[in-house]
Amino acid sequence: MRNTSDIETFLDLCHRVYEKDLVRGAGGNVSVRSGDRILISPTGRCLGVVDEDDVVQLGLDGTVIGAGRPSKEWRMHLSCYGREDVRAVVHVHSAYAVGVACLRQLDHDCSMPVYSPGYSVRVGKLPAVAYMRPGSSELAQAVATLIARRNSVLLANHGVVAVGASADQAFDIAEEIEENARLHFLLDGRGRPLDEQQQAALAGRY
Ligand SMILES: [Zn+2]
Repeated sequence: MRNTSDIETFLDLCHRVYEKDLVRGAGGNVSVRSGDRILISPTGRCLGVVDEDDVVQLGLDGTVIGAGRPSKEWRMHLSCYGREDVRAVVHVHSAYAVGVACLRQLDHDCSMPVYSPGYSVRVGKLPAVAYMRPGSSELAQAVATLIARRNSVLLANHGVVAVGASADQAFDIAEEIEENARLHFLLDGRGRPLDEQQQAALAGRY
């Protein structure tokens, strides 16, 4: 039996990610945990038009339950749910964040300076994983290793993964990352990021 409110939450997340321009075309994918299942977006379909009939359900072992083919990134999604508190996973190819992910000098420990208080609290030092083939087990494993202790990770030459204890939280993180990346390019090296002390003073304030 499918949980109607979880499906509504899932569809709302799909549509918001598209409407807020975090994905284009059939790019990106999202998932929501529903009991002992994962609701995940289908492969090759624009998130902006995903409807109830498109929802693909996975068991926690990755088995497809019922109809449909999941996003090719299903392993990456599943690996994030290894963390018990994760209820939603958002993977987007938002333009500015992908721009940062393509920089020659990408710092894999902290991929962007921290410009705003909101970004500092929700994201902070955003780590990056090296480029790996989308959909591969290697990528899923590398993401899981970082997601074990972070709510977000940048994928070199690819995109963003954000997780949350709710769909809203995962979405907010993905949006904060895109906004900070946009500022990063707007500032073009002229920015003054928040320093370590300013960031530390924000901990727990939001
Ligand atoms: Zn992708």
